[in-house]
Amino acid sequence: MYDVRPKKALGQHFLIDQNIAQRIVEQLSPDVESVIEVGAGTGVLTQYLVQSVLDKFHVIEIDKESIAYLEKHFPMLGERLIEGDFLRTDLIQFGKQNMAVIGNFPYNISSQIFFQVLKYKEQVVEVVGMVQKEMAERMAAKEGSKTYGILSVLMQAWYDIEYLFTVHENVFNPPPKVKSAVIKMRRNAVTDLGCDEKLFVSIVKQAFNQRRKTMRNSLRPMLRPEIIEKEVFNKRPEQLSVQEFIDLTNLIGGQITTYRYPHCSPDGSRNASGSCD
Ligand code: SAH
Repeated sequence: MYDVRPKKALGQHFLIDQNIAQRIVEQLSPDVESVIEVGAGTGVLTQYLVQSVLDKFHVIEIDKESIAYLEKHFPMLGERLIEGDFLRTDLIQFGKQNMAVIGNFPYNISSQIFFQVLKYKEQVVEVVGMVQKEMAERMAAKEGSKTYGILSVLMQAWYDIEYLFTVHENVFNPPPKVKSAVIKMRRNAVTDLGCDEKLFVSIVKQAFNQRRKTMRNSLRPMLRPEIIEKEVFNKRPEQLSVQEFIDLTNLIGGQITTYRYPHCSPDGSRNASGSCD
């Protein structure tokens, strides 16, 4: 039988356990209007997806050899099988809302896959994916946990994330060095974070880039004297919930105006109306 030679550079570890494949596909919610599989490889998930969601299904695979294999074994996919890079694919073409993304993700780019999902958070309501166990734990971690980090905060701001089950390395060809896990993400009800989103992302990243430091030390260049002594800056980033990061963004954003408008007086004082003009 024609087979695909696993390529390390493309993160190819093919799942060989049919029960696990079926279990992953069963996690998809029936209400989704469009399903995109990322990296089908030799189609272990695809075979169940064509049975259950063919009429609303697309596959994006970057590897030519896998594409040839999939064309041969899943002729019913036709135009729904797309050769391309998921990270550079415009997801809007697959629907405007209620989209699901599913896959045994290539581990070398799994965080980028989640950032791509985040870019389309208005469309993508659900993600069912296999990633490295450690990454799955990080995604689902709550504040106070050692694994809570940038991805936990940025993804949980928009998605409810559930760690579903762990998968042993010997059910893959070739076996990866680490264990894997399946997670499910569902879009939460948030439509507006209630703060400047760009500043939020930048604060979260800066805080966790030096996670052992207090927030005060990591964010010092952004903090003016009137807020720098606040209690919250004694904390370390892993102690702050998503909502606390949002509140903090508003606190910092409220006083940072003077930086954005350098023609304000150098000591940061404002005119009587409270704005810099
Ligand atoms: N779903 C299959 C394959 C998982 S391995 C299985 O469970 O066996 C990861 C797959 O993602 C590989 O087929 C690889 O070629 C593909 N891939 C890697 N980078 C990709 C990208 N940027 N866009 C789309 N597919 C990608």
